[in-house]
Amino acid sequence: MITESMIRGIGMTSQRTRERLVRRLAEKGIRDKRVLDVIKNTPRHLFVDEALASRAYEDTALPIGHGQTISQPYIVARMTELLLAEKTPDRVLEVGTGCGYQSAILSQLVNEVFSVERIDLLLQQTRRRMRSLKLSNVRFKHSDGSWGWESKAPYDGIIVTAAPSEVPEALLKQLAPGGRLVIPVGQQGDAQQLAVIDRTPEGYVQEMFESVSFVPLVNGEV
Ligand code: SAH
Repeated sequence: MITESMIRGIGMTSQRTRERLVRRLAEKGIRDKRVLDVIKNTPRHLFVDEALASRAYEDTALPIGHGQTISQPYIVARMTELLLAEKTPDRVLEVGTGCGYQSAILSQLVNEVFSVERIDLLLQQTRRRMRSLKLSNVRFKHSDGSWGWESKAPYDGIIVTAAPSEVPEALLKQLAPGGRLVIPVGQQGDAQQLAVIDRTPEGYVQEMFESVSFVPLVNGEV
């Protein structure tokens, strides 16, 4: 649970600043009130370096070191909204933990989150951050997430926050029947597109959504 006393701080991080961000997301088309509420109550400035804290409530991606970024709030909101649209998943796998912002949003909306990151130094920082925010229903693993997290599968929802050129087979396999995968697909630089893949009794059904720009899904761990 994130409480108001954890968020309070300098002017930039005030309730009003966060409300402004949520208004902007609603204007851009985010409809799910649960998602907007959670974004309103999540201190994004605690997920970036202090030097960038004053920009944390702008609707932009920001660098988090190791050549990676914290996703743009609109994209986090949009992917979360798509993941929850048909039914709220119970257990969710995230590939690409990064600073843990998307994990923190999910952890307040679903029962359990399993998140995999290939850069150990990033993950160590994120584990500490989640502990201090008391978000205890997120479990992390240092691994190449293109293999998913098999021992915890199946998942009702899978969200991938780095772009592969093709959907990894392992993720399709680890999706529970009735489950949903939200994933950006495409080469970096070229048009990546957000795909939503449902595992239905008739098989996997894919629908394409807006163009996006993610860091690439990279093989191997460091
Ligand atoms: N979910 C983050 C987005 C982080 S950016 C947020 O909320 O802001 C994408 C992350 O995916 C980076 O940290 C990158 O290291 C990680 N990544 C890239 N390829 C990966 C792979 N094969 N397995 C696990 N993580 C990967």
